Amino acid sequence: MSHASPTLRFAGETIALERGQTVLEALEARGVAVPSSCRAGACQSCTMRAVSGELPSESQAGLSPAKRALGHFLACVCRPAGDLEVASLGDAAELSATIVEVRRTSGAVLLVRLRTASPLDYRPGQFITLLRPDGLARPYSIASVPALDGPSELHLHVRHYPGGAMSGWLAGVREGVEVSLRGPFGECFYVAEDRDAPLLLVGSGTGLAPLYGIARDALAGGHRGPITLLYGARRAEDLYLREELALLAAEHDNLELIASALEVGEAVDVDGRALDVIALERAPADFSRGLRVFLCGAPALVNGLRRQLFMAGASMRSIFADAFLPSAPATGPSSV
Ligand SMILES: Cc1cc2nc3c(=O)[nH]c(=O)nc-3n(C[C@H](O)[C@H](O)[C@H](O)COP(=O)(O)OP(=O)(O)OC[C@H]3O[C@@H](n4cnc5c(N)ncnc54)[C@H](O)[C@@H]3O)c2cc1C
Repeated sequence: MSHASPTLRFAGETIALERGQTVLEALEARGVAVPSSCRAGACQSCTMRAVSGELPSESQAGLSPAKRALGHFLACVCRPAGDLEVASLGDAAELSATIVEVRRTSGAVLLVRLRTASPLDYRPGQFITLLRPDGLARPYSIASVPALDGPSELHLHVRHYPGGAMSGWLAGVREGVEVSLRGPFGECFYVAEDRDAPLLLVGSGTGLAPLYGIARDALAGGHRGPITLLYGARRAEDLYLREELALLAAEHDNLELIASALEVGEAVDVDGRALDVIALERAPADFSRGLRVFLCGAPALVNGLRRQLFMAGASMRSIFADAFLPSAPATGPSSV
């Protein structure tokens, strides 16, 4: 008995799927440019919508119940077992924006300010996919807060990698250049369900971007519980935004800042221990008080600490995390 290979329908075309092929690979092989980045089911840049057919459960792993109900799925990890019709999320999900300012900090971080053509409905700490005019796509977390910075302002913190396709371009871009955005994505944001619960925010490098947004959002929303922001970099001079953070802590008694760097240099107020060591020392005392933990930045820290906190007794539902996975090289025409 021969089994016909499943087919994929997209924009009126029918594509025969090869064994084990993902929806993303099949579309790219047809010349369809699908924004993508991590190709491992994490960054959600390649989110699409199923119109008919059955989705493999792993293609919806990590999506919220609401998104699953809408048929959203991740094309990079979707290997259909039967016929499937899919659509992109639609034009409404893409928005044009202007680069208003790119400011370099004392270290390797660029503070990027964008103005969107119309207000973007997002939560601080979520991320967008930034698309360069030629289609190059990378996810970045949102540090701004709509109620404080304006509904059409987006602030990103981008680490400049020498030779980095997007970050290198941003380091030299002219102000006024138009880009596009997709999103927002992700569920690493503050929800005002218990204003007295302790919050622990832990991030390395530009992992501070979403945490800065989450902290300002929580404080602006009247969060009363203690908020500990534990942020780190390899070297003390790479700890950016320190003045803004000190100002925020001076205005809010319930915000505690702990800066950590393995190479502390002359910075006497910087803890010389690793972030996970400090986090594991402090978090367990608050587990029974409804602690919520937000982890962002280097994948090794985020994934390692999530596991360690769980082993120490935290519930997975109380941990919100975004690991900044580097982009994998693509195989098709959207290989940007
Ligand atoms: C959900 C999510 C949110 C993210 N949010 C942010 C954010 O707020 N700020 C931010 O700066 N980045 C963030 N990233 C990472 C970002 O999307 C890019 O991967 C990063 O900016 C590098 O892109 P690039 O095009 O400049 O470099 P690429 O051209 O993709 O890479 C070029 C070279 O740069 C180096 N490089 C790139 N990424 C890394 C890395 N992670 N670690 C070590 N070396 C690397 C490598 O040598 C690589 O070969 C996020 C990623 C994810 C998945």
